Amino acid sequence: MATAPRLEIENLHCAFGGVEVVQGISLTVEGGDVLCLLGPSGCGKSTTLRTIAGLEDISSGEIRIDGQVVTRGGYTLPPEHRGVGLIFQDFALFPHLTVAENISYGLRASRSEKAHRVDELLERVHLSHHRQSYAHELSGGEQQRVALARALAPRPRVMLMDEPFSGLDNRLRDGIRDHTLQVLKDEDTAVVLVTHEPEEAMRMADQIALMRNGSIVQQGAPYNIYNSPADRAAAAFFSDIN
Ligand code: ADP
Ligand code: MG
Repeated sequence: MATAPRLEIENLHCAFGGVEVVQGISLTVEGGDVLCLLGPSGCGKSTTLRTIAGLEDISSGEIRIDGQVVTRGGYTLPPEHRGVGLIFQDFALFPHLTVAENISYGLRASRSEKAHRVDELLERVHLSHHRQSYAHELSGGEQQRVALARALAPRPRVMLMDEPFSGLDNRLRDGIRDHTLQVLKDEDTAVVLVTHEPEEAMRMADQIALMRNGSIVQQGAPYNIYNSPADRAAAAFFSDIN
């Protein structure tokens, strides 16, 4: 039997106060792949991501992870039982815990398993020398790496990232993007990355879903979309890339 895709969204609708902000989105992401939800501010990217996390009610449609229904009209599996990891722009590290404690915080495992996983992740994000540091002792880029390690610690099936690089220093951002991508690939998680920046999507995505007004207007490999935009608006959106 063929295995189910890691993440499937089918005809998702979501409304606030009668206004539909997600209007029939469907997509599939396989393990190890990065799908970018790309589009201008207000087009419904974060709302879509929050429904995948189980943080937002839907009007209709279905979301499946490894073939298991996690959201369907009237049914929502709680976020902590979905196997999803979350990273937002605000890394929200616990200020009173060390780097190592931040990473192991949500882990349900024996002491030795926790220690092993923390060591492994600290090595992956190049922060072994900071295991006893606190968030305020780290640079923005280092805090981002702790947030990444913490979200990866329980081995999420799907990693959800909402504009995770937008608060970072311009000069460091590309290096951090590349490193983050390498770590995500090594962990074989499926990634949904929300961004309003075309160059970020071009750099990181295996698939781009270009959104406008709550719908996906075009979906495909980055260079296919860049070279053959679906319409003038899509072309204009990419035209700022240098
Ligand atoms: P994006 O992430 O693409 O900028 P959002 O998904 O955050 O867009 O928002 C899509 C639309 O839904 C916007 O018009 C926004 O104002 C609206 N919206 C988002 N969250 C809420 C909410 N909790 N209540 C009411 N409206 C919301
Ligand atoms: Mg948003």
